[in-house]
Amino acid sequence: MQIKEAKFVKSSQKTDQCPKPDKPEYAFIGRSNVGKSSLINMLTGRKKLAKISGTPGKTQLVNHFLINDSWYLVDLPGYGYAKVSKSQRKSFGKLIESYIHTRENLMNLFVLIDSRIPLQKRDLDFMISLGEKQIPFSIVYTKTDKLKKTTYDKQIASLEEQLLEFWEELPSSFHTSAVTAKGRDEILDFIEEINKMW
Ligand code: GDP
Repeated sequence: MQIKEAKFVKSSQKTDQCPKPDKPEYAFIGRSNVGKSSLINMLTGRKKLAKISGTPGKTQLVNHFLINDSWYLVDLPGYGYAKVSKSQRKSFGKLIESYIHTRENLMNLFVLIDSRIPLQKRDLDFMISLGEKQIPFSIVYTKTDKLKKTTYDKQIASLEEQLLEFWEELPSSFHTSAVTAKGRDEILDFIEEINKMW
């Protein structure tokens, strides 16, 4: 899929403030610093699109971007953000939970995992909860350019082994780099395919 147009629509504090669910929607989520803004910018080919999400105050919101006038790309708040209070963190959790469980046009959730670090309990717990609620999701391994191929392959094998303790089948996954644009076509083609079902 070619990205012809990508524009910021709005930031929402609550799910019921999100744009009308009249287009297919794909959301991106992960722990802070996982590379979410970089990935969104890489996918859309807009250097600063997701910058808005990084500005103070906007990180705790659901940010909607309209792509090619036909689907929404959603930047969800990062979970496990170290610099916020416990009560704030709890409210992110509520916002994320409410969004994920009630957004009827959510076609797929992309869960970002930093390929350089061992699987974190928070990420695992989050994915297990998605599985239980039958929310369709994919794993996006980020920053793949930072590891040598042999190290990377070992790391992914170990992550997958851990995941297979919980599921019989692994969710679909993408191997990406915001630096080399690896994985871009795969993710955009995946979205294009699902859009056809809308
Ligand atoms: P966010 O907090 O999840 O939005 O993360 P950012 O997109 O701001 O990225 C966090 C840090 O990781 C920044 O210093 C980025 O430059 C770096 N980064 C993100 N993606 C990649 C990548 O694919 N490769 C490399 N080498 N660095 C990355």
